[in-house]
Amino acid sequence: MIETPQIDPVTEFTRQTPLDLRLVMALAGERELNARELQIVDKLKADRGEGLFADMLYALTRKSFPSRQAKLLWGEIGDHRKKLQDMLHRDPGVTLAAHDYLVNVSGLLKGAGLIEEQKFQTLATVASRDGLTGLYDKTTFTRLLNEELARQARFGRPVTLVLLDIDHFKHLNDTFGHADGDVVLAQVAELIAQQARSTDSCGRFGGEEFGVVLPEVDTQAGRLLAERVRSAIEKAFAGTPYGVTVSLGVATGNSGVKGDDLIRAADAALYDAKRAGRNCVRVAQEIVTTV
Ligand code: GH3
Ligand code: MG
Ligand code: MG
Repeated sequence: MIETPQIDPVTEFTRQTPLDLRLVMALAGERELNARELQIVDKLKADRGEGLFADMLYALTRKSFPSRQAKLLWGEIGDHRKKLQDMLHRDPGVTLAAHDYLVNVSGLLKGAGLIEEQKFQTLATVASRDGLTGLYDKTTFTRLLNEELARQARFGRPVTLVLLDIDHFKHLNDTFGHADGDVVLAQVAELIAQQARSTDSCGRFGGEEFGVVLPEVDTQAGRLLAERVRSAIEKAFAGTPYGVTVSLGVATGNSGVKGDDLIRAADAALYDAKRAGRNCVRVAQEIVTTV
Protein backbone atom coordinates (compact mmCIF):
# COMPACT_ATOMS: atom_id res chain seq x y z
CA MET A 1 0.00 0.00 0.00
CA ILE A 2 1.31 3.47 -0.81
CA GLU A 3 1.24 5.81 2.15
CA THR A 4 0.02 9.34 1.56
CA PRO A 5 2.29 11.80 3.37
CA GLN A 6 0.55 13.46 6.30
CA ILE A 7 0.38 17.24 5.88
CA ASP A 8 -0.62 19.23 8.92
CA PRO A 9 -3.54 21.64 8.39
CA VAL A 10 -1.39 24.77 8.79
CA THR A 11 1.01 23.68 6.05
CA GLU A 12 -1.98 22.76 3.93
CA PHE A 13 -3.46 26.21 4.43
CA THR A 14 -0.27 28.15 3.70
CA ARG A 15 0.35 26.09 0.59
CA GLN A 16 -3.06 26.33 -0.97
CA THR A 17 -4.80 29.46 0.18
CA PRO A 18 -3.94 32.99 -0.84
CA LEU A 19 -3.63 35.27 2.16
CA ASP A 20 -7.09 36.47 3.04
CA LEU A 21 -8.06 40.03 3.80
CA ARG A 22 -9.02 39.32 7.41
CA LEU A 23 -5.57 37.96 8.12
CA VAL A 24 -3.92 40.95 6.43
CA MET A 25 -6.01 43.31 8.57
CA ALA A 26 -4.97 41.35 11.66
CA LEU A 27 -1.30 41.54 10.60
CA ALA A 28 -1.73 45.30 10.24
CA GLY A 29 -2.83 45.43 13.88
CA GLU A 30 -6.57 45.93 13.37
CA ARG A 31 -7.45 42.99 15.58
CA GLU A 32 -5.69 40.36 17.64
CA LEU A 33 -4.55 37.15 16.04
CA ASN A 34 -5.91 33.97 17.58
CA ALA A 35 -3.61 31.05 18.38
CA ARG A 36 -4.30 29.33 15.10
CA GLU A 37 -3.63 32.47 13.08
CA LEU A 38 -0.36 33.08 14.97
CA GLN A 39 0.73 29.61 13.92
CA ILE A 40 -0.20 30.34 10.32
CA VAL A 41 1.66 33.66 10.36
CA ASP A 42 4.82 32.05 11.78
CA LYS A 43 4.69 29.44 9.07
CA LEU A 44 4.06 32.06 6.37
CA LYS A 45 6.99 34.15 7.60
CA ALA A 46 9.27 31.14 7.55
CA ASP A 47 8.10 29.99 4.13
CA ARG A 48 7.68 33.27 2.33
CA GLY A 49 10.19 35.65 3.89
CA GLU A 50 9.85 39.03 2.20
CA GLY A 51 7.40 37.43 -0.19
CA LEU A 52 4.85 37.84 2.62
CA PHE A 53 4.71 41.59 1.88
CA ALA A 54 3.89 40.86 -1.75
CA ASP A 55 1.21 38.41 -0.58
CA MET A 56 -0.34 41.01 1.72
CA LEU A 57 -0.41 43.67 -0.99
CA TYR A 58 -1.89 41.15 -3.39
CA ALA A 59 -4.67 40.40 -0.91
CA LEU A 60 -5.37 44.14 -0.62
CA THR A 61 -5.09 45.13 -4.27
CA ARG A 62 -5.16 42.00 -6.45
CA LYS A 63 -1.96 43.33 -8.03
CA SER A 64 1.45 41.66 -7.88
CA PHE A 65 4.40 43.70 -6.61
CA PRO A 66 8.00 42.46 -6.37
CA SER A 67 8.81 41.47 -2.79
CA ARG A 68 11.37 44.25 -2.15
CA GLN A 69 9.04 46.94 -3.47
CA ALA A 70 6.12 45.42 -1.55
CA LYS A 71 8.13 45.59 1.68
CA LEU A 72 8.92 49.28 1.14
CA LEU A 73 5.32 50.01 0.20
CA TRP A 74 4.01 48.20 3.28
CA GLY A 75 6.09 50.55 5.45
CA GLU A 76 4.92 53.60 3.51
CA ILE A 77 1.29 52.51 3.77
CA GLY A 78 1.74 52.17 7.54
CA ASP A 79 3.11 55.73 7.73
CA HIS A 80 0.30 56.99 5.54
CA ARG A 81 -2.25 55.30 7.78
CA LYS A 82 -0.82 57.19 10.78
CA LYS A 83 -1.03 60.49 8.87
CA LEU A 84 -4.64 59.82 7.90
CA GLN A 85 -5.40 58.87 11.49
CA ASP A 86 -4.07 62.24 12.70
CA MET A 87 -6.12 64.07 10.09
CA LEU A 88 -9.34 62.12 10.57
CA HIS A 89 -9.06 61.53 14.33
CA ARG A 90 -9.90 57.91 13.70
CA ASP A 91 -8.03 54.93 12.32
CA PRO A 92 -8.93 54.51 8.62
CA GLY A 93 -7.67 50.92 8.65
CA VAL A 94 -5.09 49.32 6.40
CA THR A 95 -7.46 48.73 3.46
CA LEU A 96 -8.38 52.36 3.08
CA ALA A 97 -4.84 53.60 3.82
CA ALA A 98 -3.39 51.24 1.18
CA HIS A 99 -5.94 52.35 -1.34
CA ASP A 100 -5.39 56.05 -0.74
CA TYR A 101 -1.62 55.69 -0.74
CA LEU A 102 -1.34 53.52 -3.84
CA VAL A 103 -3.92 55.42 -5.89
CA ASN A 104 -3.63 59.03 -4.75
CA VAL A 105 -0.09 59.37 -3.37
CA SER A 106 2.17 56.99 -5.27
CA GLY A 107 -0.02 56.63 -8.37
CA LEU A 108 0.87 52.95 -8.55
CA LEU A 109 -2.74 51.82 -8.88
CA LYS A 110 -5.67 52.95 -10.99
CA GLY A 111 -7.81 51.94 -8.05
CA ALA A 112 -10.95 50.50 -9.55
CA GLY A 113 -10.72 47.05 -7.99
CA LEU A 114 -9.89 48.21 -4.51
CA ILE A 115 -12.40 51.07 -4.53
CA GLU A 116 -15.17 48.67 -5.41
CA GLU A 117 -14.13 46.17 -2.77
CA GLN A 118 -13.88 48.85 -0.09
CA LYS A 119 -17.24 50.37 -1.05
CA PHE A 120 -18.80 46.97 -1.07
CA GLN A 121 -17.44 46.15 2.37
CA THR A 122 -18.62 49.45 3.81
CA LEU A 123 -22.08 49.02 2.35
CA ALA A 124 -22.25 45.44 3.49
CA THR A 125 -21.31 46.44 7.04
CA VAL A 126 -23.94 49.15 7.22
CA ALA A 127 -26.67 47.07 5.65
CA SER A 128 -26.00 44.00 7.70
CA ARG A 129 -26.86 45.22 11.20
CA ASP A 130 -30.18 44.78 12.94
CA GLY A 131 -31.56 48.22 13.76
CA LEU A 132 -32.76 47.49 17.30
CA THR A 133 -29.83 45.49 18.69
CA GLY A 134 -26.87 46.39 16.46
CA LEU A 135 -26.09 42.68 16.00
CA TYR A 136 -25.80 41.08 12.54
CA ASP A 137 -29.13 40.52 10.84
CA LYS A 138 -30.24 37.02 9.91
CA THR A 139 -28.98 37.12 6.31
CA THR A 140 -25.51 38.30 7.29
CA PHE A 141 -25.36 35.98 10.28
CA THR A 142 -26.19 32.98 8.09
CA ARG A 143 -23.61 34.05 5.52
CA LEU A 144 -20.93 34.39 8.23
CA LEU A 145 -21.84 30.96 9.60
CA ASN A 146 -21.37 29.40 6.18
CA GLU A 147 -18.10 31.26 5.58
CA GLU A 148 -16.77 30.18 8.95
CA LEU A 149 -17.74 26.54 8.31
CA ALA A 150 -15.89 26.64 4.99
CA ARG A 151 -12.85 28.36 6.54
CA GLN A 152 -12.56 26.02 9.52
CA ALA A 153 -13.13 22.94 7.34
CA ARG A 154 -9.83 23.80 5.65
CA PHE A 155 -8.07 23.46 9.02
CA GLY A 156 -10.16 20.49 10.10
CA ARG A 157 -11.46 22.64 12.95
CA PRO A 158 -14.99 22.73 14.38
CA VAL A 159 -17.53 25.56 14.41
CA THR A 160 -20.13 25.71 17.15
CA LEU A 161 -23.46 27.47 16.79
CA VAL A 162 -25.46 28.63 19.80
CA LEU A 163 -29.12 29.60 19.29
CA LEU A 164 -30.95 31.42 22.06
CA ASP A 165 -34.63 32.25 22.52
CA ILE A 166 -36.10 34.45 25.25
CA ASP A 167 -38.52 32.57 27.49
CA HIS A 168 -42.18 33.65 27.58
CA PHE A 169 -41.41 36.85 25.74
CA LYS A 170 -44.97 37.22 24.52
CA HIS A 171 -46.08 37.39 28.14
CA LEU A 172 -43.46 40.10 28.83
CA ASN A 173 -44.77 42.15 25.88
CA ASP A 174 -48.37 41.63 26.98
CA THR A 175 -47.60 42.65 30.56
CA PHE A 176 -45.23 45.60 30.11
CA GLY A 177 -45.84 46.69 26.52
CA HIS A 178 -43.92 46.41 23.26
CA ALA A 179 -41.59 49.35 24.05
CA ASP A 180 -40.32 47.64 27.22
CA GLY A 181 -40.00 44.45 25.17
CA ASP A 182 -37.72 46.29 22.76
CA VAL A 183 -35.52 47.55 25.61
CA VAL A 184 -35.20 44.00 26.93
CA LEU A 185 -34.25 42.75 23.45
CA ALA A 186 -31.46 45.33 23.21
CA GLN A 187 -30.22 44.46 26.73
CA VAL A 188 -30.21 40.74 25.99
CA ALA A 189 -28.25 41.42 22.78
CA GLU A 190 -25.67 43.42 24.72
CA LEU A 191 -25.28 40.69 27.34
CA ILE A 192 -24.71 38.10 24.60
CA ALA A 193 -22.11 40.31 22.90
CA GLN A 194 -20.33 40.84 26.26
CA GLN A 195 -19.89 37.11 26.74
CA ALA A 196 -18.67 36.44 23.19
CA ARG A 197 -15.05 36.78 22.05
CA SER A 198 -14.01 39.17 19.30
CA THR A 199 -13.70 36.30 16.84
CA ASP A 200 -17.28 35.16 17.50
CA SER A 201 -20.20 36.56 15.47
CA CYS A 202 -23.45 37.50 17.22
CA GLY A 203 -26.68 37.90 15.30
CA ARG A 204 -30.39 38.53 15.76
CA PHE A 205 -31.86 35.47 14.21
CA GLY A 206 -35.53 36.36 14.46
CA GLY A 207 -37.90 38.32 16.71
CA GLU A 208 -36.59 37.27 20.13
CA GLU A 209 -34.13 34.69 18.91
CA PHE A 210 -30.36 35.21 18.73
CA GLY A 211 -27.33 33.26 17.52
CA VAL A 212 -23.60 33.13 18.16
CA VAL A 213 -21.10 31.54 15.77
CA LEU A 214 -18.03 30.24 17.61
CA PRO A 215 -15.15 29.41 15.28
CA GLU A 216 -12.68 26.74 16.41
CA VAL A 217 -14.88 25.88 19.38
CA ASP A 218 -15.96 22.33 20.19
CA THR A 219 -19.19 21.21 21.83
CA GLN A 220 -17.83 21.29 25.36
CA ALA A 221 -16.50 24.85 25.12
CA GLY A 222 -19.65 25.89 23.24
CA ARG A 223 -21.83 24.55 26.03
CA LEU A 224 -19.78 26.52 28.58
CA LEU A 225 -20.23 29.75 26.61
CA ALA A 226 -23.97 29.06 26.32
CA GLU A 227 -24.17 28.46 30.07
CA ARG A 228 -22.28 31.71 30.74
CA VAL A 229 -24.72 33.63 28.56
CA ARG A 230 -27.71 31.98 30.24
CA SER A 231 -26.41 32.75 33.68
CA ALA A 232 -25.41 36.36 32.83
CA ILE A 233 -28.91 37.08 31.52
CA GLU A 234 -30.63 35.45 34.49
CA LYS A 235 -28.46 37.49 36.89
CA ALA A 236 -28.86 40.77 35.00
CA PHE A 237 -32.66 40.59 35.16
CA ALA A 238 -33.01 39.03 38.61
CA GLY A 239 -34.78 41.47 40.87
CA THR A 240 -36.22 43.45 37.93
CA PRO A 241 -39.94 43.19 37.16
CA TYR A 242 -39.06 41.49 33.85
CA GLY A 243 -37.22 38.49 35.34
CA VAL A 244 -35.99 37.49 31.89
CA THR A 245 -34.54 34.04 31.24
CA VAL A 246 -33.43 32.37 28.04
CA SER A 247 -33.19 28.86 26.60
CA LEU A 248 -30.25 27.81 24.45
CA GLY A 249 -29.41 25.12 21.90
CA VAL A 250 -25.83 24.20 20.99
CA ALA A 251 -24.67 22.33 17.88
CA THR A 252 -21.14 21.69 16.62
CA GLY A 253 -20.24 21.15 12.98
CA ASN A 254 -17.05 19.56 11.74
CA SER A 255 -15.82 19.34 8.16
CA GLY A 256 -18.54 19.11 5.56
CA VAL A 257 -21.48 20.28 7.66
CA LYS A 258 -23.63 22.96 6.05
CA GLY A 259 -24.95 26.04 7.79
CA ASP A 260 -28.58 24.96 7.36
CA ASP A 261 -27.87 21.59 8.98
CA LEU A 262 -26.19 23.23 11.93
CA ILE A 263 -29.05 25.70 12.36
CA ARG A 264 -31.59 22.87 12.27
CA ALA A 265 -29.64 20.90 14.87
CA ALA A 266 -29.17 23.89 17.20
CA ASP A 267 -32.84 24.74 16.80
CA ALA A 268 -33.85 21.19 17.77
CA ALA A 269 -31.60 21.43 20.84
CA LEU A 270 -33.19 24.78 21.70
CA TYR A 271 -36.62 23.14 21.45
CA ASP A 272 -35.39 20.44 23.85
CA ALA A 273 -34.34 23.19 26.28
CA LYS A 274 -37.83 24.70 26.08
CA ARG A 275 -39.44 21.31 26.69
CA ALA A 276 -37.12 20.68 29.63
CA GLY A 277 -38.66 23.69 31.38
CA ARG A 278 -36.71 26.68 29.87
CA ASN A 279 -33.81 28.69 31.38
CA CYS A 280 -31.35 25.93 30.41
CA VAL A 281 -28.88 24.75 27.77
CA ARG A 282 -29.24 21.65 25.60
CA VAL A 283 -26.73 20.20 23.13
CA ALA A 284 -27.64 18.64 19.77
CA GLN A 285 -27.08 14.90 19.71
CA GLU A 286 -26.34 14.49 16.03
CA ILE A 287 -26.05 16.66 12.96
CA VAL A 288 -28.02 15.28 10.07
CA THR A 289 -26.22 16.31 6.89
CA THR A 290 -28.42 17.01 3.90
CA VAL A 291 -27.20 16.50 0.34
P1 GH3 B 1 -41.23 30.62 24.54
O1 GH3 B 1 -40.73 30.57 25.93
O2 GH3 B 1 -41.82 29.30 24.14
O3 GH3 B 1 -40.19 31.07 23.57
O4 GH3 B 1 -42.43 31.64 24.51
P2 GH3 B 1 -42.47 33.07 23.83
O5 GH3 B 1 -43.64 33.80 24.38
O6 GH3 B 1 -41.16 33.74 23.96
O7 GH3 B 1 -42.64 32.69 22.31
P3 GH3 B 1 -43.56 33.21 21.17
O8 GH3 B 1 -42.89 32.78 19.91
O9 GH3 B 1 -44.97 32.78 21.40
O10 GH3 B 1 -43.51 34.79 21.29
C1 GH3 B 1 -42.49 35.54 20.77
C2 GH3 B 1 -42.90 36.98 20.94
O11 GH3 B 1 -41.85 37.87 20.53
C3 GH3 B 1 -44.10 37.35 20.13
C4 GH3 B 1 -43.73 38.68 19.46
O12 GH3 B 1 -44.70 39.62 19.66
C5 GH3 B 1 -42.45 39.09 20.18
N1 GH3 B 1 -41.57 39.87 19.33
C6 GH3 B 1 -40.98 39.51 18.16
N2 GH3 B 1 -40.22 40.53 17.68
C7 GH3 B 1 -40.32 41.56 18.56
C8 GH3 B 1 -39.78 42.89 18.61
O13 GH3 B 1 -39.02 43.34 17.73
N3 GH3 B 1 -40.10 43.65 19.69
C9 GH3 B 1 -40.93 43.20 20.68
N4 GH3 B 1 -41.19 43.98 21.72
N5 GH3 B 1 -41.46 41.96 20.64
C10 GH3 B 1 -41.18 41.15 19.62
MG1 MG C 1 -39.16 32.48 19.50
MG1 MG D 1 -39.44 32.93 23.06
